[in-house]
Amino acid sequence: MSENSVKLTKNIPVAHTCDVLVVGGGLGGVAAAIASARAGAKTILMERNTFLGGVATAGHCCSVFNCMFSHDHELLVKGLPFEITQYLAEHAGPGVTWQKHRGHVIYDVELGKLALMDMVTESGVKVLLGAACADAIVEDGEIRGVVFVGRNGLEAVSAKRVIDATGDSDVAALAGSTIKTMHGKSTYCFRVGNVDVDRFIQYFIDHPGEYPDYMDIEWTFDDALAQYRENGTFLFPHGGGHQLSLVKQACADGRFSEVWEDIVAMDAMQMHAIRKNGTVHFITGFFTLDTLNSDEMSMRIQQGKRMAVHVTNFLRDTFPGFENCYLCSAGEDLGIRTSRYIEGEYVYESKMRKSAYRFPDSVGRALIVTSKTLNAGEGAWGCQLLGDDYTEVPLRALLPTQPAGLIMGAGRSISAQNPGVLRVMVNTMVIGQGAGIAAAVSALENTAIGETDYAKIREELVRQNVYPD
Ligand SMILES: Cc1cc2nc3c(=O)[nH]c(=O)nc-3n(C[C@H](O)[C@H](O)[C@H](O)COP(=O)(O)OP(=O)(O)OC[C@H]3O[C@@H](n4cnc5c(N)ncnc54)[C@H](O)[C@@H]3O)c2cc1C
Repeated sequence: MSENSVKLTKNIPVAHTCDVLVVGGGLGGVAAAIASARAGAKTILMERNTFLGGVATAGHCCSVFNCMFSHDHELLVKGLPFEITQYLAEHAGPGVTWQKHRGHVIYDVELGKLALMDMVTESGVKVLLGAACADAIVEDGEIRGVVFVGRNGLEAVSAKRVIDATGDSDVAALAGSTIKTMHGKSTYCFRVGNVDVDRFIQYFIDHPGEYPDYMDIEWTFDDALAQYRENGTFLFPHGGGHQLSLVKQACADGRFSEVWEDIVAMDAMQMHAIRKNGTVHFITGFFTLDTLNSDEMSMRIQQGKRMAVHVTNFLRDTFPGFENCYLCSAGEDLGIRTSRYIEGEYVYESKMRKSAYRFPDSVGRALIVTSKTLNAGEGAWGCQLLGDDYTEVPLRALLPTQPAGLIMGAGRSISAQNPGVLRVMVNTMVIGQGAGIAAAVSALENTAIGETDYAKIREELVRQNVYPD
């Protein structure tokens, strides 16, 4: 051991062997693993947490933005994004009536963890929890597996193909792929319990105009109320708090503030309420951090917990229905929007999300979504407008230039002009499923991923209902 480094020479046992290894069990990784197993590959899913879901559970972001149905309510994004959302809705959320509504599909994070695990194991995937990828095994320019740290110290998994669904491109960085970094805005999310949600909704009924229409998503209070009355979940849109009198007055009186420590837009106040268990999830405030700096990550988690206590106290004193609320859980992980992503030969451009692009090597469909400010109020944010067509995701954007055998399975880590462009839950599942199918077909055919006969990949995409024909 020198002052700056330790030389490690030891034999690491190969604990598992598979066709396809998926590293990272967020929604992208879950979709990738299920798709790979359904395509017939022996599949392992490795996750550093002791449960699945990533940002969607550990990050306490508990709402699938419904960008599967078009503006005219035609289902354009099928396959696993639809199936997983349906499963979450049935087992952890509002039930099947979600399909009638736009907006977000809101679910309980704890039930969500169980639902995802059930779905993955039912598909025949072997799951390794509490297993963090620590190194990539690359030989002759090809990835052969990874080293992970778990209950037995360092062990290895040998795999024919590896899908990097870590979101932060951990495997690609360890494997020597060309990497770019964008430290986007992050948020620490939490939820409060013992809320009288009916009483809170009544506040908006009694105070017309308090709910910010067309903020963040394309709907009005009537849409939010209709959804609440039918299935008991309620969305208060991100940024809407800037216009909420309860918050504005408190900021004016000095009881709350738009900036707390160095967290900004504390008054943004996205809320996901669930009537049947009296919980409301909060996504509020932004900060920028170096997502690769462990000290800073540790500091931000601790700061986030203090912030959650601060906001909960404010809610208890201020919001109708929150009089007896308490902080019932807070994120195990930070909510990170962008961090590391690959630089591949093909770069997915931001404009491709906004019009109907078609690619000869498409591995999935994403609904066209554009953004426009439609709310005229103070601090108004862009509203995400659903299109009436879909755009496609090319396999090439998922492939790093090196090593062979590695493919990206999370939305925010593909080769893109802006890594955030396909990061929302539905799109990361689109990319995960596409990566899972491409990796499995390539492993079973024994061909490089980028050189696999596309007709065979397409056949599996059709079989898994990504494409209708
Ligand atoms: C604050 C915030 C709010 C959002 N709100 C919404 C919303 O309302 N609706 C919506 O649709 N989308 C929303 N999004 C976007 C969406 O939630 C995420 O982009 C999506 O869930 C990311 O899924 P993922 O699988 O790509 O990545 P992640 O969820 O980050 O999954 C990566 C997984 O890999 C694991 N991992 C990482 N490194 C390793 C390693 N070395 N070894 C093993 N495992 C590892 C992690 O623990 C994690 O489980 C939001 C995002 C944020 C941050």
